[in-house]
Amino acid sequence: MIPAVRGTRDILPGETERWAFVEGTARRLFEQYGYFEIRTPIIEREELFAKGTGETTDIVQKEMYSFIDKGGERITLRPEATPSLVRAFVEHALEQSMAVPKLYTLGPMFRYERPQKGRYRQFHQLDVEVFGVKDPSVDGEVIDLAWALVRALGIEHVELAINSVGCPECRPAFTRALVEALGRDVEKLCGDCRRRAETNPLRIFDCKVPADQPIIDRLPHTVDYLCDACRVHFDAVRADLDVYGIPYHVSHRLVRGLDYYTRTTFEVLAGHLGAQNAVLGGGRYDGLVRQLGGPDRVGIGFAAGIERLVLALPAELPVAPPVPDAFVAALGDQARREALALLRDLRRAGLNAQFDYEGRTLKSQMKRADRLGAPLVLILGEDELARGQVTVKRMATSTQEPVPRHEAVALVARERAARRAAATR
Ligand code: ATP
Ligand code: MG
Repeated sequence: MIPAVRGTRDILPGETERWAFVEGTARRLFEQYGYFEIRTPIIEREELFAKGTGETTDIVQKEMYSFIDKGGERITLRPEATPSLVRAFVEHALEQSMAVPKLYTLGPMFRYERPQKGRYRQFHQLDVEVFGVKDPSVDGEVIDLAWALVRALGIEHVELAINSVGCPECRPAFTRALVEALGRDVEKLCGDCRRRAETNPLRIFDCKVPADQPIIDRLPHTVDYLCDACRVHFDAVRADLDVYGIPYHVSHRLVRGLDYYTRTTFEVLAGHLGAQNAVLGGGRYDGLVRQLGGPDRVGIGFAAGIERLVLALPAELPVAPPVPDAFVAALGDQARREALALLRDLRRAGLNAQFDYEGRTLKSQMKRADRLGAPLVLILGEDELARGQVTVKRMATSTQEPVPRHEAVALVARERAARRAAATR
């Protein structure tokens, strides 16, 4: 047997229903908020992420799946969706064709990370982006949407953390203060942090090495160094969250692992997930569109990890794997032909009907019907054929009755409607 690649996993029946629930809930919600679906390729030019995600990020430095294709092009399996959406926004001048470019997408992302619970090399994201709106109320909308998503999924013990990382106006002063506060302590930090102190000091807040934490905890906070415009923006976002009644806390260390963020950053954490507890994260990226060769347009968005949302779902879901409405059982060759016609009629009527193509004995067919959880079995044998009937067996009560063949489909449909009505009562 050739096993699956390390860090990838098969999503099996039983779990796929939970995925469909997450994806379906997200789509409905995104569309309700006025977001339109976009699908971009999984492969992009490597430079899109080098420039977009940022040269100093862990993603670009260590985690990208990049290769040179047969034409000599440097290609990357996308590690995140935002640069692709920015590219598509610019390439198709979407601001001209859309009233407000509000986009969502979902699909696989690839990062060469150490696999563990909630962390995979191929994982999946739901991603939302809005382009061209400077007003802080769009930050509020995007955060409200993220919050509405975890609420609609029934995920409990969630926390919203927000921060402001400032802008190119106020960032340099903060960076200077940070490096100054670090002083000689920089030599006590891990290798990654010593490198970050040189290339992108803000990134030190991302460090998860335990020994570094006491030093990092003493560092200055971005919010204390915001310029007036960033301060006003952050206050407005917080005021909107209060209007929406969304509880949050300001997390001084929330700088996020990507280089492009400006001003608002946020994350939703699910308390019961353990070490990989961030179910979604996002923020504003006011310089990214221009940095990728587009017009001077701001942007904001978030990405949610579908694996982590699925892990965080309540055990009991309002979804169930598909169960047949009826199982058709046949005895003898002639009955089998009639059974196939009945199967077709049931399926054309939109019902879930199953059949055991290899079933020899009635007993083995009944066993299969039982395993599938079919509430009704429609039995066809010589006698039934002769009388133009089917025998309907109700599995719950083990009772059976003859029904005219031409009434069988309507009966199954009626029973299904009754079951559904009972289920929603
Ligand atoms: P983390 O700090 O957990 O590595 P991140 O900051 O790298 O997360 P983002 O790039 O912001 O994550 O991606 C948004 C979301 O995608 C995360 O909150 C998480 O739910 C999910 N995610 C990121 N990397 C992985 C991965 N390797 N496997 C599964 N889910 C992931
Ligand atoms: Mg990461």
